[in-house]
Amino acid sequence: MAVTPLYDPKTLIMLACLLVGVMGIVLLLMGRATRPRIPGVHHWAAGSLLTALAGVLILLRGSAPDWLTFTVQNTAAMLAYTLYWVGSAKHFGHRPKLKVWVLLFVVAWCGQTYFTHVEDSLRGRYLSLTGYVFAASLMHAIVFARELYRHRGDHQQRLLGAGFTFFWVVFSTLVFGARWAHAIFQPQDGQGMLDVSWLQALYLGTFSFGLVIVNIGFLLLVSERIRSNFEELAMTDTLTGVRSRRAVVDAASDLFKRSRRSGEPFSVLSLDLDHFKAINDQHGHQVGDRVLQAFCRRMEDTLRQSDVFGRQGGEEFILLLPATSMAQASELADRLLLAAVTSEPGLPGVTVSIGLTDWRRDDTSIDDLFNRADRALYAAKDAGRNNAKYC
Ligand code: GH3
Ligand code: MG
Ligand code: MG
Repeated sequence: MAVTPLYDPKTLIMLACLLVGVMGIVLLLMGRATRPRIPGVHHWAAGSLLTALAGVLILLRGSAPDWLTFTVQNTAAMLAYTLYWVGSAKHFGHRPKLKVWVLLFVVAWCGQTYFTHVEDSLRGRYLSLTGYVFAASLMHAIVFARELYRHRGDHQQRLLGAGFTFFWVVFSTLVFGARWAHAIFQPQDGQGMLDVSWLQALYLGTFSFGLVIVNIGFLLLVSERIRSNFEELAMTDTLTGVRSRRAVVDAASDLFKRSRRSGEPFSVLSLDLDHFKAINDQHGHQVGDRVLQAFCRRMEDTLRQSDVFGRQGGEEFILLLPATSMAQASELADRLLLAAVTSEPGLPGVTVSIGLTDWRRDDTSIDDLFNRADRALYAAKDAGRNNAKYC
């Protein structure tokens, strides 16, 4: 079906190339500027720069040699789609199986080279190139589908980037699939890349502006990752790697709300290293730091996965024990006292004092528990240190 050309294919490609190229540069700069490194961002950037190159080469068809405007152009487009899905897989922590993929790439590449230089067949080129792009796009869609499925029920905004990109990748996959099927079933209906027909308009539009939109998705994913890295930083104590005070307070508020609803017990422990100033004075601040780090490792080794251990500040720590009665908590406190004195070779020994309390129905806020745990801690210090007291 012929349509009145509403667009000039060359202008469309040129605009899209320009935008994708600019986004590739932005992705590249973002990838270089962010620490810790954001996985996948360099693959995306390289994919976008190759896409821009492929677009420029299409525009040169007729005025530059065929090996450049067909073979190099198609290779760049195939590589770009591969880099997109590999980048997304890496971004979400998967390891793409590239061995099978290299084989597919070689077959498709040989196909499109053969149908350009040996037997000039538009259908052959579509079968090999669009077939490959369709497969890469499908793999890309699967990466996002898996990621969205993994986070189903998690309605946080951080899925905006994944959802947005998924939608466009699925749409592109369907269009590429349709173009591919068309090349198989309607071989006589040969349409060049720059022909104007409804299918070619959809194909070209998806190929060019779909890529711009997918790049916006990548930028969203990068900014979400930067944000979540910052959040993680705020939730982690830099010296010891245990949770920060903020993370513990957040977890404590959640536990408090849960116990108010369900009546399930939980305990709060306040820990403070004994005579820590003396360790710093005798061995230096650096050794003091290592003692703090080693102490945290020993505490974590003694705790369950569900327990929440964090640094309140200085040499003071808080421990939350979900679903734990006072009797169980004081048993654990005895084990923590023992674990604290087991010092590592080369490091001075240290002891800890512990204040314990548990949630009570008439508590009005989590601060009530923190205050009681602190009072219990003072009592433990008064009683000579290296012991646990309950309040
Ligand atoms: P007590 O048994 O009464 O708790 O005695 P203490 O010496 O532990 O008590 P105090 O709170 O007076 O001293 C805490 C010391 O912990 C003082 C400070 O120099 C040291 N400190 C706090 N933060 C750090 C840190 O990050 N690294 C090191 N090395 N020392 C720290
Ligand atoms: Mg102390
Ligand atoms: Mg202290």
